[in-house]
Amino acid sequence: MARSYVKEARRRVGPKRARIVPIIERLAAAHPDAGIALRFRSPLELLVSVMLSAQTTDVNVNRVTDRLFEKYRKPEDYLAVPVEELERDIFATGFYRQKTKSLRGTMQMLIEDYDGQVPTDFAALLRLPGVARKTANVVSSERGSPQGIVVDTHVRRLSQRLGFTKHEDPVHIERDLMRLVPRADWGRFPHLMIWHGRRVCDARRPLCEECVLTDLCPSSRLA
Ligand code: SF4
Repeated sequence: MARSYVKEARRRVGPKRARIVPIIERLAAAHPDAGIALRFRSPLELLVSVMLSAQTTDVNVNRVTDRLFEKYRKPEDYLAVPVEELERDIFATGFYRQKTKSLRGTMQMLIEDYDGQVPTDFAALLRLPGVARKTANVVSSERGSPQGIVVDTHVRRLSQRLGFTKHEDPVHIERDLMRLVPRADWGRFPHLMIWHGRRVCDARRPLCEECVLTDLCPSSRLA
C-alpha cells in the first residue's frame, strides 16, 4: 500500500530531471534574498566564519565575528595570542577547543604554504586542518567557483522530500545532486533549499499549502 502510494506520487510529479530546473526557478522567485547569512569582508573572514559555524547558527557566529574580526585581521594574529585567549574569543560558538585547534593549524598552514592567503584550489582547501568537504564547498561557492554542492540538514531533508535522492549520508546525497543540478546552479541551489526549508518546508510541519512546489513535489500533503 505504502509503496504504491509512493509510486503514484512519483508518477504524478514526473521524473526529477524534468522537475529540477522549474523547481530551482520557482524557488529563486520565491526567495530572491536567499544567500549566505554569515558576515565577512575577505576570503580569510569567510573561511574563519564557516569554520566557526559548525554545530551552531549563523546568527551566533556573526555575533562572535563582529568583534573577532576587529582583533584578528591576518593569519599571524591568530597565532600571536595565547591559545586560551583565542578560545575565550570564540567560546560562544561552541566546541571552542577543537575550533581553536583547527583555526591555529589552518593559520599556520596558510602562512607556511600559501603566503598567508586562502587558496582558491579545492584540494588545497581540503588540506587545511579542520576543513572538511562542507566547509571547502561553502568557501569555494562563495568565491564564485563551486566545486560541489553543500549538503546540510535542510538540503538533505528537501532533497529527499523532492525525490532527488534516496540516500541519508551527505556524500551520496551530494553525488546525486551533482548529477542532477545544472552546474551553473551549484552555488545557489543549497541557499534556495536552506531558505525554503527554514521558511516553508519545515522538518516537522511543512507548509505545503503555502509552497510553490506542490505540483512538483512527491511528498506534498495536498496531493
Ligand atoms: S510541497 Fe510540502 S513537502 Fe513538498 S517541498 Fe513544499 S512544503 Fe515541502
